[in-house]
Amino acid sequence: MVYLQNILDKICGPIALAFSYQTEDVAALHLLLQCGIPNPEVFTLDTLKLFPETLAYHDELEKFFHITIKKYTPDPAEVTGLETKLEDEWGMRASLENRHLCCQVRKVNPLGKILAGKSAWVTGLRASQSVTRTDLKVLEWDEKFGLIKINPLADWSDEVLSAYIAKHGLPLNPLYSQGFKSIGCAPCTRPVNEGEDIRAGRWWWENPEHKECGLHLRKKRL
Ligand code: SF4
Repeated sequence: MVYLQNILDKICGPIALAFSYQTEDVAALHLLLQCGIPNPEVFTLDTLKLFPETLAYHDELEKFFHITIKKYTPDPAEVTGLETKLEDEWGMRASLENRHLCCQVRKVNPLGKILAGKSAWVTGLRASQSVTRTDLKVLEWDEKFGLIKINPLADWSDEVLSAYIAKHGLPLNPLYSQGFKSIGCAPCTRPVNEGEDIRAGRWWWENPEHKECGLHLRKKRL
């Protein structure tokens, strides 16, 4: 917590935490709330494709932490254009181009609007989550959105994360008890089998190096 506090103390201007209902996000949020920032902005991207369990978990978290997690939805006109292009509700699986377009409209474009004017954003990313995140640092410059990006869990292992959650009694997304190991939109997330990678259930029809939605693009792509 001290290292996060030290970073936050040096940042002038508004800071926001991006919440995506993963175990990591709960830990990052708990860390942030220990830092004494008055009313930190906590937001989520409601893609309009989230699981019902995730939406219920949202309400549970607000009560648990006594905070508001602000929901941002995509631009309705952009969604209409997207749905026309995708043709049906599974159209994002038809091609990488379609999937990227869906993530662009439902996630990336709203995030760009949210982060405009912010000095820094905090995420729950960890380097060990994915081959696309191996070079992740605690403190980075986010070239895509033009602000500081703070990843306080960057070097946390699975064991460290689990111990933190248990120590503080933090509530988890109920989907974890149904076999999910990474939480995303309903059409693009499935439970994983024993021994599978934790991100194996995200966009499972794609190659591992493509498994990012555009929110967390790395300079080094494998
Ligand atoms: S994860 Fe799937 S449903 Fe969600 S924005 Fe990306 S392509 Fe669309």
